[in-house]
Amino acid sequence: MKRRDFLKTSATGICAAGIIPAGITNKTETRQKIESFRTLGRTGFKVSEIGFGAGFLNDPSVLNRALEIGINYIDTGEHYGNGQSEATIGEVIGRHDRKKIFITTKLNLSFGEEPTKDRLKSRFTKCLERMKTDYADCLMIHMTPDIIQVKHEDFHEAFKELKSDGKVRFLGLSNHGTEQSIYGFTPVKMEDVILAAAEDGRFDVALFVYNFLQKEQGEKIISKCKEKNIGVTLMKTNPVLVYERRMESIEQARQRGRDASESLQKMMDEYKNRLAEADEFKKKHGIKTNEEIRDAAIRFTLSNPDVHTVCPTIQNFDELNAFAALAGTKLSDIDESSLDNYSTNLGKYYCRHACGECEPACPKRVPINTIMRYNHYFDSQQREKQAMSKYAKLTFNNASECFDCDGVCERNCRHNVPVRAMMMYAHQNLSLG
Ligand code: SF4
Ligand code: SF4
Repeated sequence: MKRRDFLKTSATGICAAGIIPAGITNKTETRQKIESFRTLGRTGFKVSEIGFGAGFLNDPSVLNRALEIGINYIDTGEHYGNGQSEATIGEVIGRHDRKKIFITTKLNLSFGEEPTKDRLKSRFTKCLERMKTDYADCLMIHMTPDIIQVKHEDFHEAFKELKSDGKVRFLGLSNHGTEQSIYGFTPVKMEDVILAAAEDGRFDVALFVYNFLQKEQGEKIISKCKEKNIGVTLMKTNPVLVYERRMESIEQARQRGRDASESLQKMMDEYKNRLAEADEFKKKHGIKTNEEIRDAAIRFTLSNPDVHTVCPTIQNFDELNAFAALAGTKLSDIDESSLDNYSTNLGKYYCRHACGECEPACPKRVPINTIMRYNHYFDSQQREKQAMSKYAKLTFNNASECFDCDGVCERNCRHNVPVRAMMMYAHQNLSLG
C-alpha cells in the first residue's frame, strides 16, 4: 500500500473512545492497519513485519499510534535514553491489551558494575517498573560482545529465576559488532556470536544486522536461526541516506576551516562522481527521493521469508507512517535495480556493520569498525552528541592515527572501502569540540 493511500484519521474519535492516555498529545496522523504478521520462531508469537525500534522513543503518542495500527513488537533496552525508552513504553501499554504485545528489553553485560546474578535481577526489575508491566516477553543480552558472554553464567541463572517467577518468557541476544566494554575490545564477528548462541540452544530470539549491502553474514545467521527455530529480528536494515549528508558535513567541516587532507579530498571528489552516476539512474527510473531507496532496502530484508520482524528506529509520526506502509509490500523489479545501482556506485562508502575484517591489519590496533559505526550514528542517524561522546570515551587508539599512515588496512577490505580517508573524515566529525 502506498503512503498516499492511507486514511487520514482525526485523533478526536480515538480520544473519545478513551484510547489515547492522559498526557499523550492528540495529533492528527495517518493510520493504516498492519495485517502482515510472521511467527517469531519457537516463541510462536505472531509479530508484525514492522516492529517498533524504541531506541530513541520519548513521545508516547507515536508508540500509542503504532500499537493502534497493529505494530505489536517493541524493541527496547535498559540503557536506551537511560531508561527513557522503557518509561515511555510504561506510559502507553496500560491502555492496550498487554497479551497482544511482544516486548523485548535488553541488559548490557559490558558496562558499569560486574553483572552478578542479583544485580542483573535487580536491574531487570527496574526495567519492568519503568515499563509498568509484570513481565517482559523477551530479555536479551545487549550487544553481546563475545562468544564467552553467550554462556554468561550469572545472566543465565538470573534469567532462569526470573522466568520461573513469571517475569520473563523468552531469552534472546543482540550483536552489531565490537564495542569498547569492561572486557576491552573483543574482535569477534557478529555471525560467530549469534551462531554460538544458536548452538547453545537456550536462546529463542536474536537481533542482528542484515541489509542489502551486507547479505552474506546475515543470511548465514538467518539460515541457522531457521534450523534452530529461533526468532529473527533485525536492526540496521537501511544503510542508505548516508551519502548526501556525508557531503554536507564534509563541506561544513571545510567551512569551519578544518583539515581536509589530500586523500580525504580525493575520496570526496570520487564520491561526487559516483553520486552523479547514481542520480542518473534515479532520474531515468523516476526515483525522486532517497526514502524510496530506503523503502526498497527494508522491502529487501522482508523479502526473506525467514526474517520475522524488522525494527527500524521510530521517533515520530513521519517515520511511523513511512515504515508501517512497508508491511505487506513486495520487493519490485525496480526496487532490485535501485539497490543494485546503489551497491555499484555507492556501496564502497559503507563500512559494513559488525565486520571488522580489516582490523587485524592495522599496526596501531585502531578499532576501525567501531569508529565507523560511531560515525554512522553521527552522519546517518544524526545522533551527533551520542556519537561524539562514545568516541571521546575510547581508550584505544582513535582515528587520529590514520592521518600519518599509508592505510595498510585498505588492502584487507574486500568491499573496497576507502578506509583511511573515511577514518579521517570520522575523526573530523567525532572530535569537534
Ligand atoms: S573497512 Fe571494510 S573490512 Fe574494514 S570493517 Fe569496514 S567493511 Fe569491514
Ligand atoms: S589508516 Fe592506518 S592507522 Fe588508520 S586504521 Fe588503517 S592501518 Fe590503522
